[in-house]
Order: sequence, then structure tokens, then C-alpha cells
Amino acid sequence: MKCLKTLLAALCITFSAGALAQAWPARNITWIVPFAAGGPTDAMARDIADKVSKQMGQVIVIENAAGAGGTIGAAKAARATPDGYTFLVGHMGYMGAGPALYKKLSYDPVKDFDAVFRFPDTPLVLLVGKSSPYKSAADLIAAAKAAPGKVNFSNAGLGSSSHLIAALFEAKAGIDVTQVAYKGAAPAINDLIAGQVDVMFDQSNTALPQVQGGRLTALALTSTSPMPQQYPGVPPLAEKVLPGFEAATWYGLYAPKGVPREVVQKMHQAYLKALGDKEWTRRMGSQGILLLPDASYAPEAFAKHTASEVERWRKVVTDAKIQLD
Ligand code: ASP
Repeated sequence: MKCLKTLLAALCITFSAGALAQAWPARNITWIVPFAAGGPTDAMARDIADKVSKQMGQVIVIENAAGAGGTIGAAKAARATPDGYTFLVGHMGYMGAGPALYKKLSYDPVKDFDAVFRFPDTPLVLLVGKSSPYKSAADLIAAAKAAPGKVNFSNAGLGSSSHLIAALFEAKAGIDVTQVAYKGAAPAINDLIAGQVDVMFDQSNTALPQVQGGRLTALALTSTSPMPQQYPGVPPLAEKVLPGFEAATWYGLYAPKGVPREVVQKMHQAYLKALGDKEWTRRMGSQGILLLPDASYAPEAFAKHTASEVERWRKVVTDAKIQLD
């Protein structure tokens, strides 16, 4: 009898998951973006959500749940019901470096989530205000060496990529700067423009309009190759100042663990179809976004990437001595 009950229960779960996935998506879907609106994660998520939602014929709502370098929104997504209606836009910080940065993290990027698909990557740009005395990355390093702790860097929150890349820059350059945390790159860049802080690393897609509009100056890139179309004359940090320095933010979509497999597959297929729009991918490229081979976007490849990044960051965080709690 007990056996029969267990069998029936298992059948019932399989059936309801199958039925749910067939009807999915029957209503609006939410993507949690754990940073303020207007920043690089938000901009990329809205752009991709727009294209994916058109493929699926269902609205994707962006919910900005900002704070603590993305960990607040990620924790919220980890606790959500895995019914295919709540997803997390995750990135290198809280889904890669998070477990190494925080001894007490309320979610596990690998065990508590199913990877859905990876977004393209974005390199970062070292930015200063228009009236900055620093005309190059070398100038900035020299100033920070002469006055430890005096140069202020704004970032999108402790553990965000703007914070982590600045911390790596500090470690590699052998300098000591003061990091000022915001709830996302959008408020952090506003204060840089206003002259409240001295320097910031921002992702290439949202830094570009500020540089082109003459509000900020780009001193260097974290990519190993120059980006002559987007940032003419701006050298990679690796070129002279910090040989071997290379960084880009990776992003992607996750569902709370246990989401029906068909949901993951349908979402990934819709994304791949959207990427077939060459005008769209050309536009992303023109913002300095780095497109990847199709195989890297797949759920399995993205799950592997997440797991390997969690391991990689354990070493990076230890070497650079970044601990947040
Ligand atoms: N992705 C940004 C960062 O981690 C934050 C944001 O999108 O606002 O620096």
C-alpha cells in the first residue's frame, strides 16, 4: 500500500510538472535584477528580456531588488517557487565570487539554482570625471601610491563586479584606495559624474554613452584587446601598466532549483532564436558587449561555468584578501 502511494505521488509530481511546462508561460514572468535600474545589469536584462518575451509571446517583468552587491535579490530568487515564473539575472559577483566573499551567504549559486542561459560578457572601463587630474591609469596608480587611501572608487555594492575588479586592480597595482559602495552602478556613476568620487570601473555598455557624451573620461580597459570603435585611443590595462590584467563581467539567467526542465529548454530556445537577429547582436557588439559562441549560452555549459567560477573566485579572493563578513 505504502509502495503504491509513493508511486502515485511520484507519478502525480511528474504529471503536474509536465502539464505545467506544457501550459507555460501562461502569465507574466518576473526576472529579478539585484541592482538599481539604469545600470549595466538592468540595461542588459531589459534588452534581452524584451527580445525573449517577443519570442515567447509573454511579458517579462523586470523587478529591481537592489542591495548588498546583488546578494539580496539572489537570496529572494533562491527562495521563490520554482514554477517558471520567477528567475534571477545573476552575475560574476554574487553568483561566482559570493561564496568566497561571504562566510554566511543564505544561498548557494550551484545547489539552489538551475542555470537557464548565459548572457554575452562585458569588459569594464576605468573611468574618471571630466576635471580629474588623472590622465592615465599610470597617473592614478602613482597618485594612489603617494597618498594611500586618498583616492575614492565608487562601486555598485560590495561584491559587485565594479567592486571586485577595483579590488583586483588595487592588489595588482600594489595600491590602497577607498571604495564607496552604492546600490548599483547607476547611482555610483552619477556620483562620479557629479565629482563626489574620483574613479570607477563600469561595464562597457553603460560607460559608453557617458564617455561619448563627454561626461566622463575612459582611462583604460579591462579587456586585453583595444576597442577602437567604442573607445578609440583607450589602452587595455594589460598593455603597459598591468601586464596580464584581464577581466569581464559574465551574466546569465537562473531559476530557483527544481524548475521543470521544459521551462529551462523553452526559455533557452527563445533566447537562441532572438540571437538570430543579427541587427540586435551587431548593436550589442557596438556597445562593447562580447558575444560568445552559441554553445557557451546553453544551460549545461552555463551551470558548469558557474561551478568553475565559484572555485576560481575562492583563490582570487584569498590572493587579493577580499573578505566582506
Ligand atoms: N553589474 C554592475 C556591477 O556589478 C552593477 C549594476 O549593474 O548596477 O558593477
